Amino acid sequence: TEELTFTSCGTEGDNWSIRAAVEHGKRTGKHIITTAIEHSAVLEPIRALAAQGYEVTYLKPDKSGHVSVEDLKAALRPDTVLVSMMLVNNELGTLQPVKEAAQAIKDARCPALLHCDAVQAFLKVPFIPKELGVDLLTISGHKIRAPKGIGAQYIRKGLDVKPLLLGGGQENGLRSGTEPTAQLAALAAACAAWDPDAPARMAAVKAHALEVLATVPGLEIINAGDAPHICAVALPGYPSEMLVRDLSDRGIYVSSGSACHKGKPSHVFAALGLPKRTLMGVLRISFSPDSVKEDADALAAALTEITQTRIAMK
Ligand code: PLP
Repeated sequence: TEELTFTSCGTEGDNWSIRAAVEHGKRTGKHIITTAIEHSAVLEPIRALAAQGYEVTYLKPDKSGHVSVEDLKAALRPDTVLVSMMLVNNELGTLQPVKEAAQAIKDARCPALLHCDAVQAFLKVPFIPKELGVDLLTISGHKIRAPKGIGAQYIRKGLDVKPLLLGGGQENGLRSGTEPTAQLAALAAACAAWDPDAPARMAAVKAHALEVLATVPGLEIINAGDAPHICAVALPGYPSEMLVRDLSDRGIYVSSGSACHKGKPSHVFAALGLPKRTLMGVLRISFSPDSVKEDADALAAALTEITQTRIAMK
């Protein structure tokens, strides 16, 4: 309870963490390290800091969707004030080496604070912030069936962080404003109601999905994901947006990656260096505790039908 502050969402926690770390290190330097595959809730506030004169190093993932601690070690500098690394990538499902990053920062005696966006990891992949060695960590309620509009922020005990909102002093003075009691109670209830067997169930459904999807003509598995609930595939020659629409007409909801706006491919898939034809046809598939193998069968059947009825682009 001493280390948690409630927020309205993951975006708020990510933004706050970045601002707080930069403020914390304002006399130390102006260098930030993050990964090229963070959510835009991390990348955009960092981009805004870059426009104000901060220097940013983006760690690139390898083909398997993981960033390397060796790259982080090489990037750490005495003027690095923040390292922001997510635990589970939201489009690939890959686990990033956050614990190893914390050790690397410590070994280098680097003054940087370590922030972790754990929005996709919370209750899907076990972790304890203290054991990860992070200073700041962000979660969001709606990823675990709490209502939208509630999140939480871990701030390591002893870390001096500037309040997000000034006012009546709620949340230990860190985020003033009358507490949304119903939302808070709902987040607690969602945590309590979370089925501890859900991750294993989702992993089994995903494993089955990857098997049946491999039978779809032309389909490529882009990433099987380390986390139990996310994987990514591609149907080269079939634009993602069309696939998402065709599938949703059949009652199947997948996405083309969280940042696929206006026909531009997601920055996460782009960072993998995929060929353009593959990149334009990626699908991010996620599973819920209620997903069953038949859902995966229906997805594979629908994609097969689409490849039979639509002509692939060259
Ligand atoms: N970070 C990651 C990895 C996410 O997947 C999301 C949501 O999709 C967010 C941050 C933003 O969380 P919220 O929607 O609660 O603002």
